[in-house]
Amino acid sequence: MARIQDRHPAGAPGPWFVDDRCIDCDAARHVAPGLIERNPGDGVSYFVRQPATPEEVEMAWRAVEVCPTRSVGHVELRRPGKPAFPQDLGDGVFRLGHNSRDSFGAHSYLVVRDGVNLMVDSPRWTRDVVEPVSSLGGIDVVLLTHRDDVADADRYAEHFGAQVRLEPRPRRPGVPRPPRGARRPHGRPRLTARRRPAAPSQRRLRTGSG
Ligand code: SF4
Repeated sequence: MARIQDRHPAGAPGPWFVDDRCIDCDAARHVAPGLIERNPGDGVSYFVRQPATPEEVEMAWRAVEVCPTRSVGHVELRRPGKPAFPQDLGDGVFRLGHNSRDSFGAHSYLVVRDGVNLMVDSPRWTRDVVEPVSSLGGIDVVLLTHRDDVADADRYAEHFGAQVRLEPRPRRPGVPRPPRGARRPHGRPRLTARRRPAAPSQRRLRTGSG
């Protein structure tokens, strides 16, 4: 929950605010353009003006649910009437929200297409993602676009019985392929593909975290 006592002083007067725990990840500014911007002095986001239309209120709630530090808030209201995510972007693509601090606030998506559900990068682990994703048919493949800061990708993969794949990195000309079994950078464990569970009933939320 956002902390009203730590409200950014540059924020426009009114009920919506950003607190100073913001890590300058850009996610809130991306989903609420024109409402939330970056303060050039300290890099912290703030409301340049208060929402004035129902569409802008919806954008503000989207910023609340996307923020990895939970820095965006309203002085009285705690939750939107209807969840802001998954956000239907059209053509079977949904933005999942609930960005993770572990991935520095990177967006994640569910792509529903041709009988294969693909999660692209990972949100933080929460039933607010698990339940709607389950109703959209679960996850077959988790595709990671980078190797580090993968948030809760393994947890989603295990819960849904999905494979984890790393997007191939383009090889620079003249750089030889490393020998098989070579140690990975930073000693990180290799993400491995997993089989789908036999029964859909295994797709249960194991914890109530989030
Ligand atoms: S999403 Fe949160 S942490 Fe990221 S820029 Fe917006 S307010 Fe700051």
